[in-house]
Amino acid sequence: MRPEILFPLFRPITALKGVGARVAPLLEKVAGPLVRDLIFLPPVGVVRRPRVAIGSVVDGEVQTLTATVESHQRPARPGLPWKIRIFDDTGFLNLIFFKGIGPHLAERHPAGARRIISGRIEHDRLGQPQIVHPDFMVSADRPDDVPDVETVYPATAGLPSRAIRRHVLTALAASPDLPEWQDAAWLAREGFPSWREATITLHSPATESDLSSRTSVRRRLAYDELLAHQLALALRKRAATARAAPKLPLSALADAAEAALPFRLTTDQRLSLEEIRADMASGERMNRLLQGDVGSGKTVVAMLAMLDAAAAGRQAALMAPTEILARQHMETIAEPLAAIGLQAELLTGRHKGASREARLSRLRSGDAAIVVGTHALFQQDVTFKDLALIVIDEQHRFGVSDRARLTSKGPDAHLLAMSATPIPRTLELTVFGDLDVSRLREKPPGRTPVATRAAPMARLNEVVDRLRAAVARGAQAFWVCPMVAESDLVDLAAAEARHAHLQTVFGERVGLVHGQLTNGEKDTVMTAFAEGRLSVLVATTVIEVGVNVPNATIMVIEQAERFGLAQLHQLRGRVGRSTQAASCVLLYDPPLSAIGARRLDILREIDDGFLIAERDLELRGGGDPLGLAQSGFPNYRLADPIAHSDLILVAADDARLILARDPELTTPRGLALRVLSELFDWRALGTLVQVG
Ligand code: ADP
Ligand code: MG
Repeated sequence: MRPEILFPLFRPITALKGVGARVAPLLEKVAGPLVRDLIFLPPVGVVRRPRVAIGSVVDGEVQTLTATVESHQRPARPGLPWKIRIFDDTGFLNLIFFKGIGPHLAERHPAGARRIISGRIEHDRLGQPQIVHPDFMVSADRPDDVPDVETVYPATAGLPSRAIRRHVLTALAASPDLPEWQDAAWLAREGFPSWREATITLHSPATESDLSSRTSVRRRLAYDELLAHQLALALRKRAATARAAPKLPLSALADAAEAALPFRLTTDQRLSLEEIRADMASGERMNRLLQGDVGSGKTVVAMLAMLDAAAAGRQAALMAPTEILARQHMETIAEPLAAIGLQAELLTGRHKGASREARLSRLRSGDAAIVVGTHALFQQDVTFKDLALIVIDEQHRFGVSDRARLTSKGPDAHLLAMSATPIPRTLELTVFGDLDVSRLREKPPGRTPVATRAAPMARLNEVVDRLRAAVARGAQAFWVCPMVAESDLVDLAAAEARHAHLQTVFGERVGLVHGQLTNGEKDTVMTAFAEGRLSVLVATTVIEVGVNVPNATIMVIEQAERFGLAQLHQLRGRVGRSTQAASCVLLYDPPLSAIGARRLDILREIDDGFLIAERDLELRGGGDPLGLAQSGFPNYRLADPIAHSDLILVAADDARLILARDPELTTPRGLALRVLSELFDWRALGTLVQVG
């Protein structure tokens, strides 16, 4: 139930005076459908309109004059502008009007009329000052009609900034005082104004610096938004985990499998596994994300967790985004499972007819305790006897509906999502705030860091020569082609050209994989590469995120300057997956921008995906930092995840504390926080990992 006090803010914009059928859709496009959305529409600029005499106008500046109309100069032929010559005690200036509105102008501004005129000063070819289409031209007895400082909003065709401004002010006037939901001590310490004062100040900047995200007004409003979001995430997390789920006690089976591994778990693997197993043993539903850089060894952690389910006589399923990844998971876990006398079931789109039927029946009967598969796992006719744990690998590769379909196969099952996109803590809190997170920062021992160097495209032939020598010694290489265009087809042309070029050197031992291939075709090429029948694999960025080809030790990335840091790191992670020395060549098109050069440096110097993600964020300094929009990155109105990253951390703590002290939000502050929650209404946000 929405608190009554918010009603004025949740009225449609059409309820505002002056917002009619023509304006409403435009205004909705700019701000949103509700009065609240206008209040939360931050201005994007400030224009000062200093008043000057014509004799002292400054070229390029927006200035305001008080002058008298001397004459109108009609265009000599169509297409030429209408000119109005004006003067004051210090000189003359021309006003220029295109678009044939002249006759109307002559009527409105007759010779001798005194006018206040404001606009951007230019000079014509003869050095005469002029203003093309002044922003204001009003009677001299109405000075208040021309603001000294104008607040600028993101205008759209048919809806100029000034009109938006008018509607924003109407909305503000209708805006209520709201109860304070922030902690009084915190407000005082930060010097934050009240919500209403903050919204009013937001819309009356005096200078550009008032638009900065660092003002206390912006920070207050950002904190409101972040706290509302963190509260929503914390509530969702509570709802998800509070549901009963199968108790899966720590099993001897998992311990035996761990003991039988040909290696020892890293400390991070062990800690993550402990967290996961504790969740599953608790009787409350696990809703956890396992984050780990490529090659950090997530699969084996998942496998050991799955064994607790098997030991309890239940089932666990691991879903991978592609056929080849599913098969690689099978390979990774087959041996350790065999060592303890277990066998996993594989189910992918490749399984047809009798083979598929046999597998489905083992899933149905529960004979198959551990199942690995692809999208095939959540087809209509797949049923499990008792699915108690669902593991989703490369979770960002699945849509919300995919995940929902899989979780519907085991409505009470624990959920473990895995991701190889390391993101900084602040972003993690905004994207995955409703999940518990375990992290693998450490790589298994014995990996040699990938020797990374940058070279200009001019040295391409040298790179190919070296590659030829390496291939002659049995090495394998990925060759990634640039992502130049928004269009797959253009990318494809570049990759095809490179493929043809490399064929002249490597003949039949070079393959090509790209986004236009069907999944089956991609798998065929990837398998040929994984099995060593291809030495060089030319790829657009579609090369499978988690694909493991330990023998591939060379990565060449063309036009590396066009990729994001995180993406380059992911690509580089395809190599360096064995004890053999690996290398990565970042080919670039000179000249590099300062940021471009810095990014390649970071990649050469740092091998830790989490650190790289943080540096990436600092360098980009805004927008959708890691291309996370699709993975549920919230579209904040007022908060900036980079400028306000400190506030994200505080908000997450604050939300947790609030719910611990006031679980049902019934204290006075709790009631005010309900108003805040409703104000931002995060429930509309799509759920990242569907929990049933
Ligand atoms: P990712 O986290 O990218 O999914 P994988 O699970 O594919 O990584 O693991 C990469 C490789 O590392 C696999 O071949 C796996 O057997 C191996 N591995 C995992 N953990 C360890 C470890 N603790 N010591 C040595 N090798 C390990
Ligand atoms: Mg993996």
